[in-house]
Amino acid sequence: MTDAHCHAAKPGITNFVCEPFASRNGGAGEGDAVFFGFHPWHLENFDATALKARLAANPAAGVGEIGLDRLRDKTICAAMREAFDAQLAIAAELRRPVVLHGAKCWGEVVRACRPYAGPGGIPSFLFHGFSRSAGLIPEIKAMNGFVGVGPALLNDHAVNYRRMVGNLPGDMLLAESDTCEPGATPGTEEVAGAIAGLRGWTIQETIALLDGNARRFLRGAAAT
Ligand SMILES: [Zn+2]
Repeated sequence: MTDAHCHAAKPGITNFVCEPFASRNGGAGEGDAVFFGFHPWHLENFDATALKARLAANPAAGVGEIGLDRLRDKTICAAMREAFDAQLAIAAELRRPVVLHGAKCWGEVVRACRPYAGPGGIPSFLFHGFSRSAGLIPEIKAMNGFVGVGPALLNDHAVNYRRMVGNLPGDMLLAESDTCEPGATPGTEEVAGAIAGLRGWTIQETIALLDGNARRFLRGAAAT
């Protein structure tokens, strides 16, 4: 199946690999998809020109993991906002799918993306690690946004998260591991199993749906 967001490729599955954290390309191989970008925790060498040139040289690559963060610091600094906006502008110009990070500030991430969404702009968004704020879902869906569901779903105590995932439109769901470890087990099949249990679907139909959604995200195709 497809791991819609990770930082290190694993054998036997399709990996959507975002730099940085792992080696260059995260060890992505044939059949995997790669995303280039400057994560909000790693902006010290931010270079929009270099990113754009690298994307232009790799027509199949997406942009990510990019975004805003309130996990490490409560205030979002101007440099973080500017780097995010510059990368969104590049993704819109080159029409590439985007993987988003928005820990504790998803509303602001949606607001920043708004001008770049829609026809002629960024074709699709992956809201990676999205939790809470189910009120944002209609707007995320209208932007052709997908929601990456991770191993947090396996925690029986994550009541609110499980409820949110149980209520999401099925065509927005993706499974992701967010793993940075090259030798890690994927984890996405367990996530698919948990989604299947929540929704009352078989594991086969759940995996088929998740894989189909992942392909639509990558192509920037609109929801069915
Ligand atoms: Zn990540």
